[in-house]
Amino acid sequence: MGAAYTGDESRTEAGRRKLGAFPVTRMRMHRKAARLTANTSARLTRPTSSYDAIILGAGGAGLMCAAVAGQRGRRVLVIDHADAPGKKILISGGGRCNFTNIHTAPDRYLSANPHFAKSALGRYSPADFLALVERHGIAWHEKTLGQLFCDGSARQIVAMLLDEAARGRVDIHLGRAVAAVDHADGLYRIRPADALATAPVLVIATGGPSIPKMGATGFAYDLARRFGLKVVEPRPALVPLTLGGDDLLFRSLSGVSTEVIARCDKAAFREAALLTHKGLSGPAILQISSYWRHGRPITLDFLPGAETGWLIEAKRARPRATLAATLRALLPVRLADVLAERIGLVGDLGNLSDRALQEAERRLAGWTFMPNGTEGYAKAEVTAGGIATEGLSSQTMEARRVPGLYAIGEAVDVTGWLGGYNFQWAWASGWAAGQAL
Ligand SMILES: Cc1cc2nc3c(=O)[nH]c(=O)nc-3n(C[C@H](O)[C@H](O)[C@H](O)COP(=O)(O)OP(=O)(O)OC[C@H]3O[C@@H](n4cnc5c(N)ncnc54)[C@H](O)[C@@H]3O)c2cc1C
Repeated sequence: MGAAYTGDESRTEAGRRKLGAFPVTRMRMHRKAARLTANTSARLTRPTSSYDAIILGAGGAGLMCAAVAGQRGRRVLVIDHADAPGKKILISGGGRCNFTNIHTAPDRYLSANPHFAKSALGRYSPADFLALVERHGIAWHEKTLGQLFCDGSARQIVAMLLDEAARGRVDIHLGRAVAAVDHADGLYRIRPADALATAPVLVIATGGPSIPKMGATGFAYDLARRFGLKVVEPRPALVPLTLGGDDLLFRSLSGVSTEVIARCDKAAFREAALLTHKGLSGPAILQISSYWRHGRPITLDFLPGAETGWLIEAKRARPRATLAATLRALLPVRLADVLAERIGLVGDLGNLSDRALQEAERRLAGWTFMPNGTEGYAKAEVTAGGIATEGLSSQTMEARRVPGLYAIGEAVDVTGWLGGYNFQWAWASGWAAGQAL
């Protein structure tokens, strides 16, 4: 039997007053938020042993769930093996955290059950999270395609979540690996290292295995399986694709970027693609990678704005131009040259048949690549697949057959598009569970 957690002085009135007062201006918030973070960490060494809920994982989903449940009067413990909370939030959006997307809708998420995310996303919307951000005086801006970022730093989002958790008097226990999880007599018993904590509710919020060097693990899946939940085969998503074979030539174009429409089966994204020394990256590729499976082709439309027949029009307008010269006016030069070389039409456009030009146009509008893999979890922004939604309530995130067990965030088989959708799922699923605990 491990040692029991002991009491926590932050539950005193003085402590509550200190944590409860939050500033209105951005500068003041910044300074106080930093202090709150320190206070929160400092008081974590002495949590009590019995709680209403234990949340594994102090990422976006876990912190949101903890704050909501804590503010509803639940005594909540959050445990994370990392030495700091919200590490992925800190590195997200180039350090500015793309914290939501105003175009959030269930059809922008991948899941074996496309309906599962509807309830949580519908009940906690981007507007709700934005209201929270504004209450904390965090300045923000829309970058593109509905993506909302902090003007300042992603640290503000972590500080905000910690402040909300502190208002709910949540205990956060960092730097502790969970050695054992047992369930008996309606209680979950968690043993992080040499301690013991118990609660009738356990929330799995440990995310997926993408970016293992940041402490990401497949722990959620192992735990879920132990309790009889199914796991949809996890795979790296929002990840660069690698090329080999015939496509190797494109690797020589490393650093070239151009707007494309990337397609895989029925999915299509019009954004920038970046050629890399390993293959393909950039937003369009990251988006399509979530839909790609081994052995399937993806296609790129290199001239997304071009109308059908544009090359025949070009032949009429400039019959002395070559295909390479024509493409150079529309695309980065190195890319234009490689594409023209691959198409292999030699000579002036004026000497080429309309039929040959139509065929060239068709290839440029649907250039087929056969990726031979992805850059894996080391480079994947998220993990697709995860704890199967069929075993969870879409209202509360509770396991249907295991009372008191919940799963939220990236650990669950719900994966958003690039652009703030994944955090919105973390907030919404965390909020849904936090309301139900
Ligand atoms: C580089 C990068 C940039 C991103 N940018 C964005 C963005 O701008 N917008 C967006 O919407 N999404 C972005 N994402 C995706 C987003 O970060 C995740 O979808 C989101 O963080 C998931 O939240 P979560 O709480 O479910 O999991 P996580 O944030 O992964 O949190 C899980 C927590 O569990 C802890 N944990 C794991 N295993 C254990 C264990 N065995 N014991 C104890 N604790 C454990 C981890 O330390 C971690 O703190 C980005 C991801 C990456 C990698």
